Amino acid sequence: MQTRKVDIVVIGIGIAGLSFARTMQQHGREVLILERSRAVGGRCATWRHADLAMDYGVPFLHARSPLFWQAVDQLLGADVLSGWPQRVQGNGPTCQPRALDPGVRHAALRGGLNTLAKKLAAANAESLRLLKDSDFGPATAGAMALFGLTPTLPTLSLLACYETPPSQPDWELLLPETSASIQLISNESSKNTAGQKLGLCIQAQPAWSRQRLDSASRLRLGIGRITVPAAENWFVRLPFSIYLGWITVATVANVTSLPDYLKWDGLGIAPEIWMGIVLAAVLVIAALMNFTRRDIAYTAAILWALVGISVKHAAVPAVALPTWITFGLVALTLAAAFFLRRTEKTVR
Ligand SMILES: Cc1cc2nc3c(=O)[nH]c(=O)nc-3n(C[C@H](O)[C@H](O)[C@H](O)COP(=O)(O)OP(=O)(O)OC[C@H]3O[C@@H](n4cnc5c(N)ncnc54)[C@H](O)[C@@H]3O)c2cc1C
Repeated sequence: MQTRKVDIVVIGIGIAGLSFARTMQQHGREVLILERSRAVGGRCATWRHADLAMDYGVPFLHARSPLFWQAVDQLLGADVLSGWPQRVQGNGPTCQPRALDPGVRHAALRGGLNTLAKKLAAANAESLRLLKDSDFGPATAGAMALFGLTPTLPTLSLLACYETPPSQPDWELLLPETSASIQLISNESSKNTAGQKLGLCIQAQPAWSRQRLDSASRLRLGIGRITVPAAENWFVRLPFSIYLGWITVATVANVTSLPDYLKWDGLGIAPEIWMGIVLAAVLVIAALMNFTRRDIAYTAAILWALVGISVKHAAVPAVALPTWITFGLVALTLAAAFFLRRTEKTVR
């Protein structure tokens, strides 16, 4: 394994990490910069559609510090659109500190805010590395600087581009103070001198976004409902499905053996009837999973367990026969679920 010795490791390539790394390099330090996402810039994020650049993180820079502006002007020159936004409608909060107060210079970048990050990254190109999943794990370093590792408020953004705009809005930033969900709408086209298209970036309130994102993270894996990359299918979903199927079987088996363990007479009901009830429960659970998720691996684990029980008790027809019947019915519900989905698709 190759070892590289550096003076300092910077983690996170937002504006802060990039600027810090650049300053350290200017002071003769050897720096290694690590970033977990696929691109540089962090919240200085720009989406490009044809010749239109739309910022969906920071829409404009604002600062009082002359040093900050000196660095920005030096790096970006004619790309800086000083004074944007000029037209602001509504009096909701932009970002903090008060960005549009007198004496605070504000500016957008013609090519989008991500240009600033890209220019800074180009200056750091030698020492910059985008991380892969395999890079994560225990690590040691002489000195480490962490940027952007604290949890930040997520903000959902909607980007819309109209090729032939109905009309140009009379604002650049719209701050709907009374809206519980929308925080800001910005007209990105006015940053672009070509300006033929109309580009809008609509941002939700952080609290509203957080609520939505939190509930999204509580959603189950979505197996059988959403399409994911093949690697995730094989290495995450498949093992989880088999595991879930196995846990289902194990839970039923444990519940079945509980009365025996507690020396409970089962309300005087014959053991064969109890077994029928348990197998019916297995069938209902499997059928529900099949019709709602169509998860073959999950059902395969249950079918495998049913075969195991039937084979083990082959000499006892009172056990083997109903278990084989349950096996057949479970398999049938899986086939029916897939058949119904094919019919639905054809009708659509
Ligand atoms: C919606 C919104 C609008 C804003 N508008 C403005 C504005 O108009 N003007 C303005 O001046 N400021 C604005 N801000 C604030 C501005 O975005 C931030 O102050 C600034 O971008 C923060 O830069 P940063 O480098 O500290 O963090 P970030 O930009 O968040 O960068 C952190 C980086 O660290 C990386 N990272 C995190 N964890 C790890 C890890 N474990 N390993 C490797 N990498 C990691 C992230 O992927 C990211 O690239 C806005 C912020 C938001 C959210």
